[in-house]
Amino acid sequence: PEGASAAERALRRWAADAEAAHGDLTRLDRVAGDGDFGDNLRGGLRRVVVRLDGTGEGGPAGRSGAEALAAAAEVFLDEVGGTSGPLVGLLLAELAAAAERAGGASAPGDGGWGEGLVAGLAAVQRVGGAEPGDRTMVDALAPAAGSVADGGSLAQVAAAAADGARRTADVRARRGRAAYLGDRVVGSPDPGAVAVAMLLRAALAAAD
Ligand code: ADP
Ligand code: MG
Ligand code: MG
Repeated sequence: PEGASAAERALRRWAADAEAAHGDLTRLDRVAGDGDFGDNLRGGLRRVVVRLDGTGEGGPAGRSGAEALAAAAEVFLDEVGGTSGPLVGLLLAELAAAAERAGGASAPGDGGWGEGLVAGLAAVQRVGGAEPGDRTMVDALAPAAGSVADGGSLAQVAAAAADGARRTADVRARRGRAAYLGDRVVGSPDPGAVAVAMLLRAALAAAD
């Protein structure tokens, strides 16, 4: 929409991508889980778009990227189920807080976005307890945060996340939670990691 912040455009693009990927994400969650991840992510992002389209918050031009991210975080924290709902909510809340610290503008690619990813990884690990290699969204977030620490551009950060998500399909990556899932997960990436990589790809595409 006219005047929307880059962060809001990223959220809307992520929502559109989640519509397109719903079937794939559902299938991936059936491999090692219960098959509801596509519904959880698409449902949450549909609610986010409804909220952003609503008249309650001044319209796209009247709110900062930090405010759009905070609204999205609230939706996931309060209204989305599954293990992923609250964890995605925490990630979005850290992205919002970092965008706010960076001045509220939150063009993806600025310092707020990178700091938000680093803080988001810490929050997801603090609450979820997963380590890299456990086949979770941490496997996309940790390489992304590592790229931020190395001074990576948003393109490099997004590529690191996509790479990390792809590697969750690799038998050699199986440890922890992934170890007892057995060979049936070989070749199938973790849907939560794929979704985080999608978010960063959307952020890159939405950057000015
Ligand atoms: P549920 O397993 O409750 O059905 P979802 O299907 O909504 O939850 O979400 C599954 C995704 O959540 C996984 O693909 C994984 O990426 C992520 N996930 C699961 N457990 C954790 C955890 N402890 N830490 C981080 N992410 C996790
Ligand atoms: Mg599930
Ligand atoms: Mg479930």
